[in-house]
Amino acid sequence: MNYNKKTVKDVDVKGKKVLLRCDFNVPMAKDGSGVITDDKRIRAALPTIQYLLDQGAAVIACSHLGKPEPSFDKWAKKQAEKGKDPASLTKEKWEKTLEALCMEPVAKRLSELLGRDVVLAADVVGPDAQAKAAALQPGQIMLLQNTRFEKGETKNDPELAKAMAGLAGADGVYVSDAFGAVHRAHASTAGVAAYLPAVSGFLIEKELEIMGGALANPKRPLVAILGGSKVSSKIGVINHLLDIADTIIIGGGMAYTFAKAQGGSVGTSLLESDWLDYCNDMIAKAKEKGVALLLPEDNLCAAEFSADAVPVLHSAMTIPDDMMGMDIGPKTIEAYAAAVKNAGTVIWNGPMGVFEFPSFAEGTRAVAKALAETDAITIIGGGDSAAAVAQLGFADKMTHISTGGGASLEFLEGKELPGVACLLDK
Ligand code: ADP
Ligand code: MG
Repeated sequence: MNYNKKTVKDVDVKGKKVLLRCDFNVPMAKDGSGVITDDKRIRAALPTIQYLLDQGAAVIACSHLGKPEPSFDKWAKKQAEKGKDPASLTKEKWEKTLEALCMEPVAKRLSELLGRDVVLAADVVGPDAQAKAAALQPGQIMLLQNTRFEKGETKNDPELAKAMAGLAGADGVYVSDAFGAVHRAHASTAGVAAYLPAVSGFLIEKELEIMGGALANPKRPLVAILGGSKVSSKIGVINHLLDIADTIIIGGGMAYTFAKAQGGSVGTSLLESDWLDYCNDMIAKAKEKGVALLLPEDNLCAAEFSADAVPVLHSAMTIPDDMMGMDIGPKTIEAYAAAVKNAGTVIWNGPMGVFEFPSFAEGTRAVAKALAETDAITIIGGGDSAAAVAQLGFADKMTHISTGGGASLEFLEGKELPGVACLLDK
């Protein structure tokens, strides 16, 4: 995949309308009060927005928010399948679920952060959006309603894409800065690019430069640290990184399936029996490719999955029947830290243990510390990994923390990302 894409700096936007796809999919308070509990994603979009406005563009921003169901019938069907009483599934209830995912709070917060008015459209491509887009002047910004209120959004309906592009007019430009959504081929993330010249904003530019650079042309040795809960969710990542990395380090819950595949006993640890052969295949692939594959030597174990469980150290291949592995042990930490020390690039996806429990956070903390101390380019991909690094206080010591959870995983799998592929090549 070509990661060398045109950016906002490569196009002239002065006096033009720019359709800007952002990732404003912010967490909202569960009580339906419309309170945004973390505005990080809105803040992250500010540099691109400010740049476009400064250049004299009129910005038509859009994003999805949550997972609204735009069809009442489908909504009612899904609720009924979840065991809800069909008689209670009224149109009013459905409308409430949509109301809770309106963009009003986002427009308000964006306006506060920018220190200027943000015009909010009542629809996505309807009469209100059209009238407001037509009246929008250079240096002004508006926000469309939740793109997923349109049935065609997730289907990547060309009619919807065309209508969205139409809001920017004949000489309009499409800018995508929604890295968190580039793995989805939706109308607003990919479809629109068929109708407007398409370039990246600064967020996507940085992701492509650093993560794309690390995958396409890494400073070596390239060390990949893979952990998290399941082998099954990381198969693509392990397989792809075995093609390009010099060293692969395995930790977290997935390590026990590897240990079992190698003939170890793993007690009650997280185990995916369907993936034992796959683990052995990956071990064989590593040998064949000359990639060093490091597995835990020792583990901190517990009698139960609980924050108060007493940590007990066991050798990785001989975990007692009534114990589960919760973290990597001190010998493993030492080996993993040493492997990171002289790396040129480190890509890390997946915590080394159940870091949410302080007694089992040491492995993740020690690896984060080793990354903070190395001179290597350090890249964190994956939602929980990013959260762990932030929670442990190492966020500002990393070269790059990817902003997209699912998108960064698919990036590391070497998959083509529709929202990136659709942008103009440099
Ligand atoms: P990411 O979001 O970074 O891709 P994952 O979602 O794959 O990471 O995995 C994160 C989760 O893995 C964390 O919630 C962590 O508690 C869990 N985990 C790590 N080690 C273990 C383990 N030994 N047993 C059970 N869960 C684990
Ligand atoms: Mg996760």
